[in-house]
Amino acid sequence: MPRRPYKNFFASLKGERKGPRLGAPRFKSRKDARQSIRFTANARWSVTGNGRLSLPKIGAVKVTWSRTLPTTPTSVTVVKDAAGRYFASFAIDTDPAADATRMPNSGQAVGIDLGLTHFTILDDGTKIDSPRFLRRVEKKLKQAQRELSRKQKGSKNREKARLKVARAHARVADARREFHHQLSTKLIRENQAIGMEDLAVNALARTRLAKSVHDAGWSQFVAMLVYKANRYGRTLTKVGRFVPTSRTCSYCGHVDGPKPLHIREWTCPACGALLDRDINSARNVKRAAGLAVSACGAPIRPELVLAQRNEAGSHGFPPEGRAA
Ligand SMILES: [Zn+2]
Repeated sequence: MPRRPYKNFFASLKGERKGPRLGAPRFKSRKDARQSIRFTANARWSVTGNGRLSLPKIGAVKVTWSRTLPTTPTSVTVVKDAAGRYFASFAIDTDPAADATRMPNSGQAVGIDLGLTHFTILDDGTKIDSPRFLRRVEKKLKQAQRELSRKQKGSKNREKARLKVARAHARVADARREFHHQLSTKLIRENQAIGMEDLAVNALARTRLAKSVHDAGWSQFVAMLVYKANRYGRTLTKVGRFVPTSRTCSYCGHVDGPKPLHIREWTCPACGALLDRDINSARNVKRAAGLAVSACGAPIRPELVLAQRNEAGSHGFPPEGRAA
């Protein structure tokens, strides 16, 4: 085992290393079946006329293309995943002129919040959930995992079930990546400027929120937004966690008391706006990123709700009158 991981681990134990506490280094798993090989321009590989991939020492391989190659690739990486499937991914130099035509300047701006009840919330109130194709494969994965847990250790049926789980896992990962690609491309296409909260995924992952945060795969989605913003000349501003986005009223700027996660909506004591936790956060993120926040999509004011029910002319304050 190389020395550097141990050096980092001991430095972390002694508090000499910045960042989160590190665990002891682990050996690569004997069961980890993922393998990859990369062929650069110098290696003798090519895409043949009939759409096969010709690799040195291997020969021509049949390929199911996910998209056509826009230009001649500079390298190819062949990966075998844990489910035993082979993938070829090509590196291609980008063409700035073609990119500009594909994604013209939109002039729009958006603030996005990575929620826990929904995948993403936009400042205009749009709540985006994971699509049905992703939920379907997730359900299949759960089924496969249940079946595996019922099989006897060391049995042939268990081995079969294990492979089934590995394939289901791979399908979930594929579907999730596809969803992240679709959504990040849509947000980049529609907006010139994006403000988003700089969620410390590592810090969140250590809390009991771990499952939902990991499952949703924030970091993959954010990484896609970052590289697409770079590529298509969009501005992506990350707002630090020190901005109290959940307890600041996005209409009047009043900073209220702490808002634990179970509080889904609250009424601003200063201006009376009824605030949806996630939409309010997305609006604050947008403003903190230096982007203009629209006044439309006006907040629901409790006194207006009351006025419909009580024509005697009550002004609806204090807000608890809403429950009447
Ligand atoms: Zn307010």
